[in-house]
Amino acid sequence: NAEFSGLTAIVTGGASGIGRAVAELLLEGGANVAVLDLNPTDAPEQALGLRCDVSDRASVDAAVEAAAQEYGGIDIVINNAGIGAQGQVDANDDDEWDRVLSVNVVSVARVTAAALPHLRRSDHAAVVNTSSVAATAGLPDRVLYSATKGAIYSMTLAMAADHVREGIRVNAVCPGTANTPWVMKGLMAKAEDPAEELRQLNARQPHGRLVEPAEVARTIVFLASPLQGSTTGTALAVDGGMQGL
Ligand code: NAD
Repeated sequence: NAEFSGLTAIVTGGASGIGRAVAELLLEGGANVAVLDLNPTDAPEQALGLRCDVSDRASVDAAVEAAAQEYGGIDIVINNAGIGAQGQVDANDDDEWDRVLSVNVVSVARVTAAALPHLRRSDHAAVVNTSSVAATAGLPDRVLYSATKGAIYSMTLAMAADHVREGIRVNAVCPGTANTPWVMKGLMAKAEDPAEELRQLNARQPHGRLVEPAEVARTIVFLASPLQGSTTGTALAVDGGMQGL
């Protein structure tokens, strides 16, 4: 399948978990892929790995331009880099709010704005943002994280409206708890009995298991596809039914 042949994608956070799975699928589909990540050495081999901190505008501008230079444009932006934050409303100080908002939310504006002149020149421009079930599910102990993912959801709708007449589509995915290094490392670090902890985590998911990164990636790639030209301003849940509970 060479659905993405001739197209160039940038994937933030494409060196691990969901983003890496997206980069691999886009490469399989024939795209040129640039991975913008703090750890670009872990990007898939055929991708252009670019060291980038999405919370730093100069770093983002430089990486986006490097990708556009290398491949002669940018057609697809996958805004996927993100970090977690735990706790109730009194858990995080102002610095922590600023830091997590910058990495998770303002990054989406920084990266998309930097890529916008290139997207405007593309015939198949698409942006896909990684929100979360946390945007709408009311998860306990996740106030700051939920705020960032809710903001990404709202930005997706507003950006879709802004750019639809320019032929730029903007969509989001809302994954449930996924089997990525982030989740697994967190689990293993905390648990006295990691196997039991994992069993309980699986059992808490409506469909009885963690979401696989490849399942989220498949949905992101579906939304990014040039075959999907009439889909914009939508958010797809990939959460085993969590949102409906
Ligand atoms: P992960 O930790 O496995 O991968 C995240 C990647 O982002 C890493 O390669 C990391 O280096 C990179 N990154 C982090 N901060 C960065 C920064 N400032 N600049 C550039 N790169 C940076 O995480 P994951 O589980 O694959 O999560 C990816 C996205 O999916 C995140 O936005 C997360 O909020 C979202 N999400 C994850 C889950 C889950 O359960 N894993 C559920 C819902 C949504």
